[in-house]
Amino acid sequence: MIAYAERFVPENDNEAEPPRQDHHDIQSLPLDLQLQGTVDFGASSAAMAARDFGGMQSVSPLAVIRPMGVDDVARLVKAVLCSGDLTVAARGNGHSINGQAMSDQGLVVDMRTAEADRFQILAEGPNGIGYAVVPGGALWEDVLRVCLSYGYAPRSYTDYLSLTVGGTLSNAGVSGQAFRYGPQTSNVTELEVVTGNGDIVLCSERENSELFFAALGGLGQFGIITRAKIPLQPAPDMVRWVRVVYEDLDSYRRDAEGLVTGREGESFDYVEGFVFVNSNDSVNGWPTVAIRPGQRFDSALVPNSLRHPVLYCLELGFNYRRTDKTSTVDSVVGGLLGRLRYIEGLEFQADVVYADFLLRVKVAEEHAKANGIWDAPHPWLNMFVSADDILEFDRLIFRDVLKGGVGGPVLVYPLLRSKWDRRTSVVLPESGEVFYLVALLRFALPFPQGQSAVQMVEENKEVLRICDENRFDYKLYLPHYKSQDEWKAHFGGQWARFVDRKMRFDPMAVLAPGQRIFSRSF
Ligand code: FAD
Repeated sequence: MIAYAERFVPENDNEAEPPRQDHHDIQSLPLDLQLQGTVDFGASSAAMAARDFGGMQSVSPLAVIRPMGVDDVARLVKAVLCSGDLTVAARGNGHSINGQAMSDQGLVVDMRTAEADRFQILAEGPNGIGYAVVPGGALWEDVLRVCLSYGYAPRSYTDYLSLTVGGTLSNAGVSGQAFRYGPQTSNVTELEVVTGNGDIVLCSERENSELFFAALGGLGQFGIITRAKIPLQPAPDMVRWVRVVYEDLDSYRRDAEGLVTGREGESFDYVEGFVFVNSNDSVNGWPTVAIRPGQRFDSALVPNSLRHPVLYCLELGFNYRRTDKTSTVDSVVGGLLGRLRYIEGLEFQADVVYADFLLRVKVAEEHAKANGIWDAPHPWLNMFVSADDILEFDRLIFRDVLKGGVGGPVLVYPLLRSKWDRRTSVVLPESGEVFYLVALLRFALPFPQGQSAVQMVEENKEVLRICDENRFDYKLYLPHYKSQDEWKAHFGGQWARFVDRKMRFDPMAVLAPGQRIFSRSF
């Protein structure tokens, strides 16, 4: 395997490197590509493709390709196969943390330009069930907007929707609806993929199923997703958004697991939650819990408060129609809340338009951009932790290592294995039906005003060290490793299948080099 030299972005220098042209020759890219789109060797495009949301790594591509459609993508992959040693990375919206959408002196395909605004809404079957057929480079927020204009909506989301369809389907795509519908990878019925062989393949559970399941959660290793067919459901109009607070993870966990295993119609439509610091810290503490300005967190209500460095907030959503009577919504939500054992009085509610609820992180993005924390490095850590280990994880990590907070949300909420298709490439903890998403979503002002990214990365490593030392059953979500041995350990029993699929669909390993799983063959 070729060793990768990691290139960290210096924290006092946010400028991406200018494109280096030391070990690849522009001539190695055939000039008769005959693309309808463009090949851009310019410094500003290269700088864009050398940055991501993580802001910690930067490698410059040789060129950025802006394809006009699937034929362009296929032609490009074929040209790369004929080249000496080029690789090609699809770039969705560049919201990876660790350079996963970059290509060191290779090609980056800007998927946002590949017909990203060409949507089709279909009604199929006797009941006229709706589907959206959307480009891989489309942003979920645009998919939502178009679907809503037809009265429909996808079933499963991410918390933040300025991510591309191809980017989240290459990972999993999880949010508070995943307990019911599964991740986004369980909510797609057909893909159009350009494989690493340069073939354009339509695939689904029935047709070319091996490629279909390989590409879902496949970290971009088997093909470039150029189109996806997403099942829709009638869109609700409104959401009753609720937050309730717990003093310990055990009672939080019981209620959260009760809700995610409850039957549709007898539970909420959205279940998530987070850990927060038991203090008035404006970034990590009580002020992060209220939904609306004017709602007050009365800390005097927390029993035995001194014993709790952190508290837990269950975040819930109940969908309804504008025509539903408020008294009916109050009564259903009140009935559901009545079964929960949160701290009485620490309950916050708001009624919001469905689209505004799904787009709520966009508002946070605007604030973060205004105060400089959006463009600073984000050493995020995402993991799936088995329910068997979550209480010990809480004791050793939430209530100890992270008791001062991470400078942003710390998500922890249950998911159900049975809603995930084992045939996809996604890797989950080994045991049990319930596992938890844990996400340390670190935001900090740029160093030296804020904590240095190196310190935050060290804290992440400490979390993982504790998990390993205690033999917790966990897997990284949005994984990032530097050696193939680490990848092998990550995939465990699924490694052989992953390698077989790679041999079949991208045998020269030209795709998604930023994941650092395989090296380009010659
Ligand atoms: P990129 O970062 O551009 O690409 C990611 C990987 O996918 C790369 O390897 C790339 O080569 C590959 N890729 C991109 N497009 C394609 C394609 N069309 N075909 C094949 N491979 C492709 N995730 C969740 O699950 N739930 C959340 O709630 C959530 N919230 C987030 C909030 C924020 C603010 C951020 C920054 C990230 C969040 N994520 C969440 C993580 C997000 O799902 C991943 O980072 C995802 O990869 C980002 O999508 P992107 O379109 O920017 O992909």
